[in-house]
Amino acid sequence: MGSITLQKVRKAFGDIEVIPGVDLQINDGEFVVFVGPSGCGKSTLLRLIAGLEDVSSGQVLIDGEDMTQAPPARRKLAMVFQSYALYPHMSVRKNIAFPLKMAGMAADEQARRVEHAAGILNLTDYLDRRPGQLSGGQRQRVAIGRAIVREPVAFLFDEPLSNLDAALRVNMRVEISELHKKLATTMVYVTHDQVEAMTMADKIVVLRAGRVEQVGSPLELYRQPANRFVAGFIGSPN
Ligand code: ADP
Ligand code: MG
Repeated sequence: MGSITLQKVRKAFGDIEVIPGVDLQINDGEFVVFVGPSGCGKSTLLRLIAGLEDVSSGQVLIDGEDMTQAPPARRKLAMVFQSYALYPHMSVRKNIAFPLKMAGMAADEQARRVEHAAGILNLTDYLDRRPGQLSGGQRQRVAIGRAIVREPVAFLFDEPLSNLDAALRVNMRVEISELHKKLATTMVYVTHDQVEAMTMADKIVVLRAGRVEQVGSPLELYRQPANRFVAGFIGSPN
């Protein structure tokens, strides 16, 4: 569970072709990072996978099933937004349960899932607080908790750490990597930060102007960059 396949995925906004055509295989359980400069199409590609944007052409397969036309809820993916997307007037418990409540899930099952997610994220003692009473790192964990309770086949992160300070960013990087080990669920993580990509990824996808320049492990990209763009971006000596 949790493989994602893109076949000739193309996206244009009006006359502007943002993604000319991407083929990509993401395997079950992998931590895949999309990296590239601002404006290269990382968020658009993630939103196409999530179903938050329609493809102009091509196919999106999830666990081998064609989900190109499926609405986001059917895709069983969870997008993690930055922590400022929390509801300030609701408790942590209610923030985490929110997607379940919206889906009409029974209250006892909601409670079970929230307790489970809180345990994984060390938030058990904070469930009755409001987001404003938490540290930046705890707030980010609440945002992740909201994704965990949905029990998705894959998590999609769009620059989740970009509004955190440098020290906290390093901590959260480690926490997300540990969460990946614990859950063993596919994660697709978008960043423009090369260090995040190199330290977190099983597989890095380097994007430039909506095209895949190279796919490989951090070591492969470092040792054998496909071209100068990748070499320059990854910081390899070649
Ligand atoms: P990144 O996340 O890598 O910074 P984006 O995927 O946000 O890049 O954007 C890629 C390109 O697509 C940019 O040129 C951006 O202006 C354009 N774009 C993104 N969303 C829209 C939209 N809804 N309408 C028009 N252009 C868009
Ligand atoms: Mg973006």
